[in-house]
Amino acid sequence: MKIDSLTHILPKEISNEIDKFKNLDETFNELFESKTKIIQTNELIEEIGKNNIDKAVVAGFGWQNDDLISMTNEYIIKSKNNYPNNIIPFCSINIKSKKSEEELLNCIDKGIKGIGELHFNYEENYEKNKIFKNILKIAHDNNLPIIIHGSEPVGHKYNGKGINHPQNLYNLAKNNPDNIFIFSHFGGGLIFYEHMPEVKKVLHNVFYDCSAQPFLYNKSIFNMVLNSSTLKKVLFATDFPLINIERCLNEISHLEAEQKNYILSYNPISVFNL
Ligand SMILES: [Zn+2]
Repeated sequence: MKIDSLTHILPKEISNEIDKFKNLDETFNELFESKTKIIQTNELIEEIGKNNIDKAVVAGFGWQNDDLISMTNEYIIKSKNNYPNNIIPFCSINIKSKKSEEELLNCIDKGIKGIGELHFNYEENYEKNKIFKNILKIAHDNNLPIIIHGSEPVGHKYNGKGINHPQNLYNLAKNNPDNIFIFSHFGGGLIFYEHMPEVKKVLHNVFYDCSAQPFLYNKSIFNMVLNSSTLKKVLFATDFPLINIERCLNEISHLEAEQKNYILSYNPISVFNL
């Protein structure tokens, strides 16, 4: 079984009226432009079929508007109900909204398998935010992994890059050691510090996805991060439709069969409890 651990779909109401949603939600405005490619469920199913991928994590974004959150979560859950064998549904949650607990419990009832992709810049004072801590507790009690966008402290800028640098992600994991986190885009480089024994201990519940790799790193990164200490922590992911799946699969074609088995299959099966 092959799994793409990060893709995004959005309902047609949104792709038809991108400008309306740019005005409605700050994260949407940061991530989307009038011409940004948006796909619906059927296009995702077609794309994974074409590339012999069996299942895809379909994630939300770190929306801040409660209505946009409910609308996109409902769409993802509906897609999962239509394609239960292909879609692993994740939900959006606004960590600052009083409605987030109710939204998350509702999504859990309907079968979501995780939270994310969340876009926020973690700071230590989040630890005093009761809503945030409550979300983490519910995630822990329900064994739900949380995907969080990570950003490189160096290199080119892009829409929605943010400043969730390795240091922030490290502090988040350190302050919440019982939660399972998946830090996107190799955690903005946090994965390199897994070679420090004390850091590795702190990051015992942390996984990394390689989504958008061709936009961020040369494929040589895989040889650097797939070693004995991190082979079980990396999830193959694309960020489709940002990048097509074929291109991302080509970037890992040089890996050994066993390495591919871990990132495409064994690791996601274990993290998502498949
Ligand atoms: Zn991201």
